[in-house]
Amino acid sequence: MRFQNVTTNHWNVQENLDHANFDREFYEDLNRGRPGFKLKRSIAIGPRSGKAFVVKAGEIFRIVETEGPQICDLWLFNRKNPKEHFWSNYTMVLEGVYLKQYGRLWSNMPWFRPMATFMEETVRSRGGFPHIISFGSHCTSELWELHSGIKGLNSCHINGLNAIAPFGLKEENLHDNLNVHMKVEINPNDGQVSVSKSDCVRGDYAEFFAELDLLAAVSACPLGDGSYPNSMPEKMIVGPLEIEIYSTGIRPKTFPKWYNWRTNKPRIKKEDSIELKANT
Ligand SMILES: [Zn+2]
Repeated sequence: MRFQNVTTNHWNVQENLDHANFDREFYEDLNRGRPGFKLKRSIAIGPRSGKAFVVKAGEIFRIVETEGPQICDLWLFNRKNPKEHFWSNYTMVLEGVYLKQYGRLWSNMPWFRPMATFMEETVRSRGGFPHIISFGSHCTSELWELHSGIKGLNSCHINGLNAIAPFGLKEENLHDNLNVHMKVEINPNDGQVSVSKSDCVRGDYAEFFAELDLLAAVSACPLGDGSYPNSMPEKMIVGPLEIEIYSTGIRPKTFPKWYNWRTNKPRIKKEDSIELKANT
């Protein structure tokens, strides 16, 4: 047996981008058109609360730090079919843990296409540590209870539910999300994740271009600016956020259809079918 020709198979995020019909020139043109963007709507989000809002395909939305650093969770749904939503795990696989400029926010199966494209993070533009994390998850009251022993605390899960409720969406719709303006470091030796105080300053923003008609929901996380550990919820320094929605006058490119392998569905004979049964 010969192994000398075996090479390490690198998982290259940039190659993924290039292979997934990514048109860098389109987004660079879009960026150059920035002075022509028109502010359509601003939405204030108070500390420890959440709101959802519609963003049309071709519009840009910004999450703005109005007073100072404040961690935010972001959920995305296809406005016309909320079964299609942001898929944090596969976004991390394709784009990396820290989302870069023009990184795309992918949707779940069977759609699996970019829902939005990440345009700008001002913290990183200043040369700072990346603050947009694609590995999903948001805080829950259960997490706060686990870490602090205090029951019934506010959480991004509650804020997210309150945000989507007016649009008829429920807990089963609240998928894993994107973490925005959160300073997360990953220890390469043991894989442990740690959060420290966000480097954001007043006026910092993260900006996204809608590839589809979207319903976006955000939560101003009770973790606040990330200064204190989860065991000290009473100390958190929390603040508001603002959403700004801009029209760009540019239509997104249509993402090409995947090959439809589903025409070859497995056929199951009645005698081969297995019923799921609860253990008794
Ligand atoms: Zn949270």
